[in-house]
Amino acid sequence: MIDMAVFKQFQDAISHLGEMAQPEKLSDQERLSRAKAVMRQKTDRALAMDLEACVNCGYCSEACHFYQSTQDPKYTPTRKLDLLRRVHMRETSAFAPIRRLFTRDITVDDLQEWQELVYDACTECGRCSMVCPMGINIARGVNVMREALYEAGLAPLELMAVAQEQAGRGTVFGVGPAELLQTVEALRAQGIVIPFDAPRADVMLVSTVIDVLLYQDALAATARILNHLGVNWTLRSTGFEAANFGLLSGSESLQKAATKRLVDEALAIGAKTVIMPECGHAYPALRWDGRLDNGDPLPFEVLAASEFVGREVQSGRLQLQPGDASQTYTYHDACKLARHGGVIDEPRAAIRALGGDFRETAPTAELNWCCGGGAGTFLINRAAPLRHKAWEIKREQIDATGANTVVVSCASCRLNFMAGAESDQWPTRIASLVELVAEQLPTDKAH
Ligand code: SF4
Ligand code: SF4
Repeated sequence: MIDMAVFKQFQDAISHLGEMAQPEKLSDQERLSRAKAVMRQKTDRALAMDLEACVNCGYCSEACHFYQSTQDPKYTPTRKLDLLRRVHMRETSAFAPIRRLFTRDITVDDLQEWQELVYDACTECGRCSMVCPMGINIARGVNVMREALYEAGLAPLELMAVAQEQAGRGTVFGVGPAELLQTVEALRAQGIVIPFDAPRADVMLVSTVIDVLLYQDALAATARILNHLGVNWTLRSTGFEAANFGLLSGSESLQKAATKRLVDEALAIGAKTVIMPECGHAYPALRWDGRLDNGDPLPFEVLAASEFVGREVQSGRLQLQPGDASQTYTYHDACKLARHGGVIDEPRAAIRALGGDFRETAPTAELNWCCGGGAGTFLINRAAPLRHKAWEIKREQIDATGANTVVVSCASCRLNFMAGAESDQWPTRIASLVELVAEQLPTDKAH
């Protein structure tokens, strides 16, 4: 558990990220032509069908926390794809020469307006697609819009700054191998065994800047669980960062480079399994988008920390000490884990093993509400009021369960929950899944 004072220091530090961005100086014409080039290039058959299939039924609005919490029509999910749709209709659709006659071209002002819609007001949570009768993948279209805006130099400065840092220096928020080593040494001083930079290992544990700076207990907890299970694992200084600011900002080249760093590291040590930290977006970035250089699928398994722990519980290999039966738990499904990744049963198995009273939210699992802070929105200063409105839906959903603890398995969700709790004086305990599990490990020699 971290105290609120430390969290507020972190919040204050990240509020200055935008000041470090170095935006490219581009003319309006250059911005427009770069953005359109990305839109054209990324409009494959699946996206073209998505752009043409919308019947304007409005169901997606009901599913989107940004629309629901504001009732503002500008946040209608399908509208977030309007620029992409217009470029497709005018330039790449079957009847483009005719459609061009009655489809207005996009402008730089449009691009600037859409920056808020696709970065601040979309967490790429995918909930809208769950209810869309046409199965339209709005999150993917939004991601393409982010790529177009990044290329046009129009990403929010906060995300641009961190993407530039990760691409240029290989660090995130100034955290690199030296800072990771400091954390490892601090944990070792507490008696936690961390095999660091082992040349070969069956399992490679990946961490993240947020765990290094804030949630060191989550890293310690995962280490203790791995040690308790007798896993042959390591944490590698040159391939530890799960956060992928290429994916969040829209920089495709950085996304690929950040993923490749992890892939190369896992291959170099012969890992059969890579365990991702409690980090939502990092999981799909490696599991679904990760490929070998030749395009082949990854030759190792990628598991989210909650997925790994839950599987060990389900198999009976991991058994916990009886916990406090008076505890009441509910679970927040991180969108990228549950809706996009199908990690639903495993975290629940782990929570049930804690021994308290587990209460599902309504709705739950793949229809659970997003917390409003994912996909990098947490870092965008101006998005705070909108994010808080979206969070209120989540808070009410948790409150309705009457649980005294909400369990999370994504550091980004955890940050957003803590920000909401801090501003609303919300008393519910916010707890990491791996930390709760580690607290109830049977006593043994491995720490
Ligand atoms: S639910 Fe699907 S078809 Fe209906 S408005 Fe939204 S995107 Fe269009
Ligand atoms: S992906 Fe999520 S945040 Fe984005 S439009 Fe759909 S429901 Fe809203």
